Amino acid sequence: MSIIWGEFLTIIREEVGSRVVDTWFKAVSLGKWDMILKEVYLEAPNAFVKDWLNKNYLALCQTHLARLLKVTSLKVIIIDVSDTKNDNSVKNNVLESVECPGQAGTQEVVLYKPAKVATIKRGNYTNTGYSFENFVVAPSNSLAYAAAQAVTEKPGCLYNPLFIYGNSGLGKTHLLHAIGGSIKNKDKKAVVLYQTTDRFVSEFINAIRFNKVHQFEAKYQSADVLLIDDVQFISNKGQTQEAFFHIFNLLYDAHKQIVFSSDTFPQDMDGIAERLRSRFAWGLVTDMYAPSLETKVAILKKKAELCSEVVDDAVMYFIAEQVTSNIRELEGALVRIIAFATLTQQAITLELAYKVLLRTSLKSAPRVVDFEGIVKVINKQYNCSLKDLCSKSRNKHITFIRHVAMYCMKHLTDKSLRDIGTFLGGRDHTSVVYALEKIERHMKENAHFGVELRRIENEILK
Ligand code: ADP
Ligand code: MG
Repeated sequence: MSIIWGEFLTIIREEVGSRVVDTWFKAVSLGKWDMILKEVYLEAPNAFVKDWLNKNYLALCQTHLARLLKVTSLKVIIIDVSDTKNDNSVKNNVLESVECPGQAGTQEVVLYKPAKVATIKRGNYTNTGYSFENFVVAPSNSLAYAAAQAVTEKPGCLYNPLFIYGNSGLGKTHLLHAIGGSIKNKDKKAVVLYQTTDRFVSEFINAIRFNKVHQFEAKYQSADVLLIDDVQFISNKGQTQEAFFHIFNLLYDAHKQIVFSSDTFPQDMDGIAERLRSRFAWGLVTDMYAPSLETKVAILKKKAELCSEVVDDAVMYFIAEQVTSNIRELEGALVRIIAFATLTQQAITLELAYKVLLRTSLKSAPRVVDFEGIVKVINKQYNCSLKDLCSKSRNKHITFIRHVAMYCMKHLTDKSLRDIGTFLGGRDHTSVVYALEKIERHMKENAHFGVELRRIENEILK
C-alpha cells in the first residue's frame, strides 16, 4: 500500500504541484483497499484535511488510484483518523454511498435492462443489443442457442436450470441477455433479473454488513427469470453459496427459470459445495466451443452489417485467421480496423487491415527478433537456405524470397536498410528499398499473399 501511495504522490505532484502535495497529501496515508467493493480508504490526520480533500481532490484521487490499483473505477472514502468515533464514521460514510438492496426504504426490484454493446459506425456510435437476431448460429454454439430459445418459449418448464459453459469471449453473456430481452419482449410484466456473479457476491457481502440479507433474498426471490453470469466466481465463497442455494431452491420450486453461464463445466468447478454443484447440472448443461473459420467470418459479417460497413471478404478472412477463437477479440480487431479507416479517411483494404493488426500485435508482444530468426522461418517456409538468400543469384524464386526476408527485417526489427542489405549478401540499401516496394505492391494485388506474409511474421514473432 505504501508503494502505491508513493507512486500516487509522485504522479499528482506533477499534476498539482509540490505545494499542494506537501500541504494536503503528505500527512495522509492509504488505509485499506477493499477489492471486492472497489473501495479505497484514505486516512486524513484531521477533519479539516478530510473535508478539503473531499471537496477539492476527490476526483483526482479516484482517477489515479483506480489506475494504480488496476481497476476501471473505484470509490475513495476519506476518513478522519483523529475522530474518536472513527469506527462509526467509516460506517456512516459507507452507508451513504454503497448501493444496498432495499436501501432508502424501497423494496423495489432492479428490473431487467437489456445490455447495449457499442459498435463503431463511421464517425458515429450506434448501439446494438445482445439479441437473438444479432447472434450468429453455428455448430460451435447451436446447442446453447437452441436451448436458450427454448427457455424463452416456456420459461421454467423445459430446461431448468439452463447451464451454459464455454471459454471466455464465446458469446455466453450475449445469450443470457438475449434470453432476458426476449422474455421481456413477450411478457412486459415478467421480472427478469440479470446479475454477474461478482456483483451478486458483493451485494451479498453488503447485505450482511448492513443487516439487509432479507431484502437481498427478497429481491432475488421475486424474479421470474434469474440470469446469473460467470457463476464460476462463486467458488470458495461458502456463505454466498449458501444464500444462493436457498434462493435457487425457492425459485426452482416455484418453477421460475434460472440460467447460468460459466467458463467451467459444473463437475470441474473447484470450491463449490456439492449440493450446489449438483443443482447446476439438474437441468440442461450445454457447451459453446471455439468457432470455425467460417463461423468467425459469418460473425464478422454480421458485426460489419450492424455498423453499416461494407468490408471485403478477403479482409474478413484475414481478420478471422488472425484471431484464434475469442469472438470478443475478433470483434475488437474489426472495430479497430474500422476506427482506423474512419480516422485516417481510408478505405478498408487488406493492406490497411494488415497494418492495423500487425501493429497491435507487435505492441502487445514486444520481442527482440534478429535477422537469423527471421531467415530461419523464411527458409523453412520457402525451402531455401541462407546461402541462397545471400547469393548473387537472380533466379526469380530466390529473388522473391529475398524480398520477403528484407520486408520482414524492416518490419520486425529496428535495423537500418543498410544493415539489412549488408546481412543479405552485402547488397546496397537501394535494393532493400526496391524490395519493400515490390512486396507492398504484391500485397495490394494479391490478398492471399498478404495473409501468407502475416502468417510468416506471426511465426517469426512466436
Ligand atoms: P462471454 O460472455 O462468453 O465471454 P460474450 O457474450 O461477452 O462472451 O461475447 C463476446 C462478444 O462476442 C460480444 O460482443 C458478443 O456479441 C460477440 N459474440 C459472441 N458470439 C457471437 C455470435 N455467435 N454471434 C454474434 N456475436 C457474437
Ligand atoms: Mg461474459
